Amino acid sequence: MKRLAALTSIVVAGLAVAGLAAAQRAPGPRIPPTGAIEKVRGDLYKIPGAGGNTTVFLTANGAVLVDTKLANNGQAILDQLRTVTDKPVTMIINTHTHPDHNGSNDYFRAASPTIDVVTHENTKKWVAANPRSNPAMTPTRTFSDRMTLGSGKDRIELYYFGAGHTDGDAFVVFPSVRAMCIGDLMAWNMAPLIDPATGGSVIALPDTLEKAQKGIKGVDLVIEGHGDVNSWKGMVAYTEFNRALLNVAKASLAKGWTPEQGLAELERNPKFAVFLEETLLKDLEYGGTPKSRALINLNVAFQELKGEKVTTNFGPPRPPGAPPT
Ligand SMILES: [Zn+2]
Repeated sequence: MKRLAALTSIVVAGLAVAGLAAAQRAPGPRIPPTGAIEKVRGDLYKIPGAGGNTTVFLTANGAVLVDTKLANNGQAILDQLRTVTDKPVTMIINTHTHPDHNGSNDYFRAASPTIDVVTHENTKKWVAANPRSNPAMTPTRTFSDRMTLGSGKDRIELYYFGAGHTDGDAFVVFPSVRAMCIGDLMAWNMAPLIDPATGGSVIALPDTLEKAQKGIKGVDLVIEGHGDVNSWKGMVAYTEFNRALLNVAKASLAKGWTPEQGLAELERNPKFAVFLEETLLKDLEYGGTPKSRALINLNVAFQELKGEKVTTNFGPPRPPGAPPT
């Protein structure tokens, strides 16, 4: 028995080493580290990398952070913040529940235990439901449809228009600089990841984006959840693409087509070329190509429309072990 146990442990250790070696050989596309802070407009800044973008809004009293990246990036975020201000962090807003957006809340709450963490009410529910949640991810204030924070040029407006990436995605608007954070409803300028485990829906997504376009006024800059600063016009085009993807999925199902045939149909419209490119987006290589994302969402749409459990939301382009975006 002893010998068997020893052999077993050697085999297990060997497998572990082999697994590690394999991981080192083929790490897949990597998530870039926290990058340099960039001015968006006026007192609004963006810190890229290490998961979702962290948006910084400097108010009279302090800095408001929208999203805090993956865990263990608090110091890196603070280092970037300190290049533009000495003000303390006074509030965190999380656009949704995923740990690449609230992962470093703990760093700032440890420094200032009384600061508020504000989210949509459904995000609080998902944080509570996830056994891997850090307590610092738990919101202290929530909203259902609308919330106003601050006043004058420091005013922030929070909006909720329904499900999409999850069912707790907040729009965070900064009226004084005519800009907003859209979270992972538009993580990048390509079809977004849909997370059915937290209420996400490719059927609901275009409705939610269209309601936002009708309900939000006075914004011309849109900070993507992981990617660049886009324009309002860019978000309108992105919404049209997500609506067309759903329409094509419905038509394809009715004709007995495959998702691949639906993709070919989408490619017939030159307006959608940017959303169907086969090249990886810079620093977003871990997210796959726009075309691969579109095909994933056509598969998700097929499953949702047929009333099946969604199993295709994480396609092959996502590296093993990577957190949801
Ligand atoms: Zn996400």
